Amino acid sequence: MSYTVTLIPGDGSGPEVIAAAKRVVEATGVPIVWEQAEAGAAMIEACGTPLPEETIASIRKNKVALKGPVTTPVGTGFRSVNVEMRKRFDLYANVRPAKTYPGVISRYENIDLVVVRENTEDLYAGIEHMVGEDAAESIKLITRKGCERIIRYAFEFAVREGRKKVTAVHKANIMKCTDGMFLNIAREIAKEYPQIEFNDSIVDAMCMRLVMHPEDYDVLVCPNLYGDIVSDLCAGLVGGLGLTPSANIGVDGAIFEPIHGSAPDIAGQHKINPTAAILSASMMLAHLGEAKAAASIEKAIIKVIGEGKILTQDMGGSASTEAFTDAVIAALA
Ligand code: NAD
Repeated sequence: MSYTVTLIPGDGSGPEVIAAAKRVVEATGVPIVWEQAEAGAAMIEACGTPLPEETIASIRKNKVALKGPVTTPVGTGFRSVNVEMRKRFDLYANVRPAKTYPGVISRYENIDLVVVRENTEDLYAGIEHMVGEDAAESIKLITRKGCERIIRYAFEFAVREGRKKVTAVHKANIMKCTDGMFLNIAREIAKEYPQIEFNDSIVDAMCMRLVMHPEDYDVLVCPNLYGDIVSDLCAGLVGGLGLTPSANIGVDGAIFEPIHGSAPDIAGQHKINPTAAILSASMMLAHLGEAKAAASIEKAIIKVIGEGKILTQDMGGSASTEAFTDAVIAALA
C-alpha cells in the first residue's frame, strides 16, 4: 500500500527545502506517491489566484500535504495562501514543537516544548475594514466551539505524547469576553484530565518567563495571534527558524510545513537549512502512522547536528542544503 501526498513546493527558498524533505522521506522506504500542486504569486498570472482550485482539490482528495513556504505581500495584495488553506480545510490545530538539539548554537539546553495554536479564529482571521479614511477596525472573533476543540486537542496531544503539563496562554485580564471565554473553557476541560497538570499565564508575562525559564513549559495552548508570536519566540529559543517544523491539523486534512517563510534573501543559493522541512515531513509520517520512519528521521537529524561536521550556515557550518540533506540520508538507521 502506498500513500498519496500533495506536495506544494512553495516559492523563494521553498522548493529547495521541500526537495530535501522529499528525498529524506523517500530514503526511509515509506512508499509515497507525490502529487505536485502549486500555490503562490506565480499562480496569479496562470490561474488568476494564488491558490488554484486544482491544489485545493488535490489536498481534499489526499487529505495530507507537505508544503513549502509561500511569499505573502505585506500591507496590500492577495491574502495569505496559508490563512486561506487553514480556512478551507478547517485546519484548526497548529502544532509547533520547539526542541533543543545538542550541537545547535542556542542560549539554552533541554528545551522540549510544543505550542498548540488555534489556527482559524481571533484577530488573525483578518476580519478588518477601514472606518472612513483615518481609522481601521479589526475584529477579534473567538467562539466556544473554536476554544473547546483546540483546548481538547492540546490535552489529548499531551496524553498521547506522554507530556505532563498544559499552560493556557491568554490576556483575559484585559479582553474579558474573548480571552476570558478561552480561559474559562480551558479551566473546565482541564478537570477532565487530572493526570495532566494545568496552569494559565498572561501572554506578556509568559513571554518574559519563557525567555528566563523556558524549561518550565511543556504544552502551551494559545489563541491564534499569541500562538503565532509565541511560537516564533520559541523557535528563537532553540536556535532559529531553520529548525522548527509544524503541523496544521483539521478534521478533513492535515498540512505539514516548516514555520519559516520563503527566505527570499537566500533563495537559490543552496544555503537554506532544510531541517524544519525535514522534521515537518517526519511529523507527516507520524500522522500517517509511520512512527518508526518518523523517529528514524529525527534521530538522523540529531546525529548529524550533534556531530557538527556538516551544518548549514545558520547553524555555524558551511555545508550546502544538499550536502546537509545527504548527511541526514546517510545517517538514517
Ligand atoms: P523568513 O522566515 O522567510 O526569513 C527571515 C530570516 O530568516 C531571513 O534572513 C531568512 O534568510 C532566514 N531564514 C528563514 N528560514 C531559514 C532557514 N530554513 N535556514 C536559514 N535561514 C533561514 O521570514 P520573512 O522574511 O519575514 O518572510 C518572507 C516571506 O515568507 C514573506 O512574504 C512572508 O509572508 C512569507 N511567510 C510564509 C510562511 C508560510 O508560507 N508558511 C511563513 C512565514 C512567512
